[in-house]
Amino acid sequence: MTQTLVSTTDDNTTEQASAPSISVVIPLYNEEESIPHLYEKLTEALEAYGKPYEVIIVDDGSTDGSYPLLRQIAEQDKRFKIVRLRRNFGQTAAFAAGFDHARGDVIITMDADLQNDPADIPKLMEKIEEGFDIVSGWRINRQDRFLDRKLPSMIANRLISNVTDVRLHDYGCSLKAYRAEVLREVRLYGELHRFIPALASQVGGAVAEVPVNHHPRRFGKSKYGISRTIRVILDLITVWFLGTYSTRPLHVFGTMGLISAGMGVLLGLYLSFLKLVEGQNIGGRPLLLLAVLLVVVGVQLITMGLLAEMIIRTYHESQGKPIYVVREVLNADEA
Ligand code: UDP
Ligand code: MG
Repeated sequence: MTQTLVSTTDDNTTEQASAPSISVVIPLYNEEESIPHLYEKLTEALEAYGKPYEVIIVDDGSTDGSYPLLRQIAEQDKRFKIVRLRRNFGQTAAFAAGFDHARGDVIITMDADLQNDPADIPKLMEKIEEGFDIVSGWRINRQDRFLDRKLPSMIANRLISNVTDVRLHDYGCSLKAYRAEVLREVRLYGELHRFIPALASQVGGAVAEVPVNHHPRRFGKSKYGISRTIRVILDLITVWFLGTYSTRPLHVFGTMGLISAGMGVLLGLYLSFLKLVEGQNIGGRPLLLLAVLLVVVGVQLITMGLLAEMIIRTYHESQGKPIYVVREVLNADEA
């Protein structure tokens, strides 16, 4: 008994020594001018912080001189891992690739364009050490244009915080820290990276927010415009749906379907009454069309809900994905 205990502890310590405790994940797309500064600032901040670390830069299909520079860095400094994607898959996919390669206990994400400040990393770590699972940066002095960046993002932040249970001021800030095991439960699609805190809190992570620095972009240009707002809003609908109803889709579709079909049936009864009792002619009434439409739509919605129920069962069962997430089990059986 004692022996097993000792050897387990030993294993853990060797693992701790070889595994970096911080993994910084950075998606990068055509940022050649920023790279040398990024390397310098990151190394300075992380060395000063003193914990073992690795930096995972995901080259998201850059077409400028970024990759040769990154390769050069990787040759000089083994703490820098470069994951090069075959083409441009977008920031969310790049984050996902980085997470899959990260080995640290805490994963920190940030942008490659120097708008985030690596010197804020210790502030995020402090909150993680206090016991939070997710710490999100809040760009109090955001240095972006107002009309096409800050205004849509203000609106998006309001919407997201109303729809999800996670109240943050700034969902779009890339500078965030996560306990690695929380991220393992989260699968990313679309433009979902700004919803990671919401998704992670759906699997039970505790979320905190800290103010961080933000600098104007010095080199290159932003990869996004106003069109992102629409995608963010659509993603918000997905997050809301997955968060509240993904294990019982019939509750959403079925409720809408029943309301619609119910109204249709009532209208139909009313029209039948007019026809049969009062002897009125109802053939040309728009109300009749509406009644039929409501019933048809209602039946469709209910059917859709049932289909979604079947899909959700396949989803959970084929992937062995339980509908709950366990934090820990005490005195578990040795299986
Ligand atoms: N990025 C990426 N793939 C893309 C677009 C952007 O990896 O398809 C990276 C980009 O290099 C930067 C980060 O994502 O490190 C944020 O992009 P950007 O600075 O253009 O966004 P903004 O700060 O303007 O919202
Ligand atoms: Mg930027």
